[in-house]
Amino acid sequence: MRFFLVIVLSICSLSAYDAINGKVLLLEFNAEQSLALSKNGLNIPLLPHPTDAAKKIAYIAVSYRQHDPIQLLYTTTQGKQKLPLHITQGAYQKEILAVEPSKVSPPKEAMEQIKQESQEAHKIYQTFTPKRYWTLPYAMPIHSTITSDYGNARIFNNTLQSYHSGTDFRASVGTPILASNDGVVVLSKTRYYAGGSIVIDHGEGIYSVYYHLSSRSLHVGDHVKQGDVVGLSGATGRVTGPHLHFGFMVQDIPVDPLDFIRKVNALF
Ligand SMILES: [Zn+2]
Repeated sequence: MRFFLVIVLSICSLSAYDAINGKVLLLEFNAEQSLALSKNGLNIPLLPHPTDAAKKIAYIAVSYRQHDPIQLLYTTTQGKQKLPLHITQGAYQKEILAVEPSKVSPPKEAMEQIKQESQEAHKIYQTFTPKRYWTLPYAMPIHSTITSDYGNARIFNNTLQSYHSGTDFRASVGTPILASNDGVVVLSKTRYYAGGSIVIDHGEGIYSVYYHLSSRSLHVGDHVKQGDVVGLSGATGRVTGPHLHFGFMVQDIPVDPLDFIRKVNALF
């Protein structure tokens, strides 16, 4: 399965690559010869490899709603190369969910709150912190059964159609939820859809998110270590019952968190 491979790129061996919607493509480059990378004209930073100083890495986040090919432009000491990225649609499942009617058709007075929360979140996720806070592989926030995978097409109350932007874990109310890696807390509040929410900045445009918490243990600005308790699981926000929603944002795009962790941890 090509998309699970970390592709090692060397000069003059680049052609077309495949990516799957909703997944991150993690590329490795020769550090000495690589100068720049862009995705459809947007600069993608070349970052230090966590364990190999001779290499650099780059995250290409592919949106769940991406269908069209992506054009990568790779600049090396030898010149520029175009790398077309073909997008394959993932084999995602469908879910039918019943939630509180107000979480599908929010009352008028909630609309402003929802809009502000969305704007605040995008502003955070579009922020690129140059510092990498972590040195170790990423860890799971809880060891429990997965109840809903990333990418499930969702129909709420037979009306609203959406998709699942993270992975849900079974968690009775009050279960400690752990930080996946080191970072800085950039959001800690109760929100309309996500309920009790913690967002951790891991640096370099990578954020992990923890939703539906019954209580939060951290404040904005707190430095956290992997395994620190971010809060206790709950059933707040738009839910069918208690669980943890765990996700990763890369370049302001929600990607499959377990796929992201598997790929980054393979660098170690
Ligand atoms: Zn979820």
